[in-house]
Amino acid sequence: MAPHSRSFDVLIVGGGIMGCALAYHLSKHHGKRVALCERDSPGAGASGKAGGLVSAQCWNDWDTIVVEESRKEYRRLAEETENPFFEASGGVRAVSTEEGEASLGRTLERLRRNKVSAELLRPSELSALYPGANFSGVRTALFTPDDAIVLPTDLTLAYLHLATEAGTAVVGAPKAGSIRRDGDRWRFEADGQEYEGPSLVIAAGAWSKKVLGTMGLTAPLSPYLTRACLLKVGNRRSFPYLHDADMDVYLRTFPGGDVLAGDGTELREVDPDHVESKGDIPFMEHISNFINARFPAWSDAPLGSSWMGVITSTPDRRPWLGPYPGVPGLHVATGFNGFGLMRAGGAMRRLSLAIVKGDTEPLGPCLAERFPPPHSSFPPRSGFTLD
Ligand SMILES: Cc1cc2nc3c(=O)[nH]c(=O)nc-3n(C[C@H](O)[C@H](O)[C@H](O)COP(=O)(O)OP(=O)(O)OC[C@H]3O[C@@H](n4cnc5c(N)ncnc54)[C@H](O)[C@@H]3O)c2cc1C
Repeated sequence: MAPHSRSFDVLIVGGGIMGCALAYHLSKHHGKRVALCERDSPGAGASGKAGGLVSAQCWNDWDTIVVEESRKEYRRLAEETENPFFEASGGVRAVSTEEGEASLGRTLERLRRNKVSAELLRPSELSALYPGANFSGVRTALFTPDDAIVLPTDLTLAYLHLATEAGTAVVGAPKAGSIRRDGDRWRFEADGQEYEGPSLVIAAGAWSKKVLGTMGLTAPLSPYLTRACLLKVGNRRSFPYLHDADMDVYLRTFPGGDVLAGDGTELREVDPDHVESKGDIPFMEHISNFINARFPAWSDAPLGSSWMGVITSTPDRRPWLGPYPGVPGLHVATGFNGFGLMRAGGAMRRLSLAIVKGDTEPLGPCLAERFPPPHSSFPPRSGFTLD
């Protein structure tokens, strides 16, 4: 007997920050009936593991504008939900090379062009922001005072909370192999029921390639690992997050007196369901070298915890958003190259317009059509670079 069918306007696969933010925009601002399918708990993927940096110092004008939109939205949502997950910490990127200095100069021009406050700091000015730190070798740093840090799980759950208040239904994962196009509708089975609707969005982060694979479709995605840890330094001061571009480490304050530190990545494609990690040791050595060099007062701080998450690279390191080429009613929302948390608000607002009004122009350089299928494998490229 065919399972009972529940009808929605938009079916979203994946309850990370993309799925939750998109569900929020579609249900709250466009009155759409949304089913959000999550196989684990919302935020269980990369979103709940992120460092929480919200930085306007990204790569191009589109990123800068979308991060600014997201940052303002996160601040507003924190106020609206009375949840202190947002802190206007400011942010700093420090460089030790001539090329890095030239790159920060270009970033400064871009930020000013987009009316984002930014200034270059000398090493002595940096030291004033981080008392006790050692910035020997640093040539200059770019300070963006409006940048922020967020608590990623709280932010994701705030979107989810507001989306469900606006009518979004949260359901389990589509049964393997059940997603199909039937006339002008998408259908799948989940939790013993059939769900159907004209629009389907794959927002399953590092799993998106696998989900599309079950539908016989390819994706220009390469999932890879990145790591972070909490150090119990007993810090009681607020300071701007720091990204040391040449040591390839970022650091931010965290509630409870900890600091959160993370680095780049293991640049090889992984299966997000069978992650074979090289282990924590090279990562912890890297972080430890950074702390010894830059924050010697914290050299003996115990490790609170460390973790890894799987993020998703595209061939040009830009997100992969909007209509899947040649497949009616199918959209994708992934490929954020390790910078999804800071762009989710603005990017998913724009995707909601593409779904509801067919207006794909705001997705700019991230439109999925730039990579026509079929797609082949490629090595992941780190997102945390200056270029
Ligand atoms: C250690 C670390 C630090 C990071 N730091 C930052 C940072 O400081 N700033 C920043 O902007 N970004 C950061 N990121 C990147 C950021 O976390 C991601 O870009 C973002 O969370 C991606 O969100 P998403 O919703 O696309 O994916 P995810 O959060 O991975 O969500 C995908 C969801 O899909 C679900 N799913 C998978 N398969 C299925 C299925 N078949 N059916 C239903 N559901 C399914 C998963 O369970 C998961 O919940 C970091 C990531 C990591 C790992």
